[in-house]
Amino acid sequence: MLATKLADNAYDVALENFDSAADALGLDNDTREMIKFPERVLTVTVPVRMDDGHIRRFEAYRVQHSTARGPAKGGIRFHPQVTLDEVKALATWMTWKCAVVNIPFGGGKGGITCDPKHMSQGELERMTRRYTSAILPLIGPQQDIPAPDVYTNSQTMAWIMDTYSMTKGYTIPGVVTGKPISLGGSLGRNEATGRGVFYTIQCACEHLDIPLKGATIAVQGFGNAGSIAAQLLHEAGARIIAVSDSTGAIYNRDGIDIPELIHMKALTGRVYGFPGTEPIEPGALLELKCDILVPAALENAVTRENAGKVGARIIAEAANGPLMPAADRILEARGAFIIPDILCNAGGVTVSYFEWVQDEQHLFWEAQDVYNRLEKVMKTAFRDVIKIHIDRKVPMRIAANMLGIGRVAEAIHLRGIYP
Ligand code: NAD
Repeated sequence: MLATKLADNAYDVALENFDSAADALGLDNDTREMIKFPERVLTVTVPVRMDDGHIRRFEAYRVQHSTARGPAKGGIRFHPQVTLDEVKALATWMTWKCAVVNIPFGGGKGGITCDPKHMSQGELERMTRRYTSAILPLIGPQQDIPAPDVYTNSQTMAWIMDTYSMTKGYTIPGVVTGKPISLGGSLGRNEATGRGVFYTIQCACEHLDIPLKGATIAVQGFGNAGSIAAQLLHEAGARIIAVSDSTGAIYNRDGIDIPELIHMKALTGRVYGFPGTEPIEPGALLELKCDILVPAALENAVTRENAGKVGARIIAEAANGPLMPAADRILEARGAFIIPDILCNAGGVTVSYFEWVQDEQHLFWEAQDVYNRLEKVMKTAFRDVIKIHIDRKVPMRIAANMLGIGRVAEAIHLRGIYP
């Protein structure tokens, strides 16, 4: 059925989000034509010799949605469900996200359709290096700067940086961000997304007059973004009552010991079975009555079907695109406060920008410096978005998109980029 197919497609969601914000901005058709669609789309084949000796072919992508405000910037995802449309959607959101936090980058994204959980380190390294050489014409510190995303990490970035540098003959740390500290990474980058999520939740709680201390929270996805956000919320006195990852969901109404859970997840790779918790259905986590829901896994977690049952007052989108447009409308109608992804999870790209600045200057900052600057950027962006939300009486997602899209439109007009 077409309706189901369209609803599942993240790129359709990205285009729908764009149209709603562009309508609210009163953007003319010529400007829409110039900024709505990706500037460059590259599909590559990545042949990899597997450990058993045979060659396996992977499909992979790099998309540059916009370079109007600076080099393209965006993560690389390794996941079995990666498609070109998903990468285009994620690249589009990166453009508006960089503009929302007002950093001088455009949007990009990359991905390989693969199952990294069933690949060895050697296979992952060979695949990453081959992919890097395939997208080499697009990337570079002044052109397009990849970073980690789902199932990629600082090791992946080190392999990309090394492969890129080998072709140039000298070390170029600024080609990727999210690198290990010893290779020019930034202090605070690893926890930046979760920390940014935390700052925006602080702002939302202040705005709604909900004390964060004692607030009840459910977190879907316990990777980089979800676990760090949970840790900081736990430290601030909030009660994390449920957590899930791809292996299952756990629940304790009195609150889960997050530092211990992070420790167990690092040792076993799972949250399921954590002592003192009871297992619940992963879908039930989204429906728990609580103050804050943090979807921190993948797109389309909340759909038309389950949106009516979501029990949280605030939804903080740590993941990209976790709410489908129909779900948005249902939640909006019942008065939920949504911190949209392009604002909520922008801490990652903000500290990526700090890392790139430090690499370019060969001068590195202390962790507290990074945190202070990040807090300022996130809280300023929240203030800018909430102002549009209140002044223009539009939902938070449309307000964030209006801010991002408006800044890109302004850049295009000031540059005079016309056909
Ligand atoms: P990650 O690989 O570190 O973690 C992903 C987590 O989601 C894992 O715990 C995995 O088990 C879990 N997961 C997967 N499928 C699930 C499911 N169906 N139900 C529950 N949990 C599930 O990835 P990450 O970097 O934390 O990214 C998570 C989300 O945050 C993605 O949408 C990503 O695009 C977004 N994001 C990440 C960053 C970053 O800097 N890492 C920045 C911005 C946005």
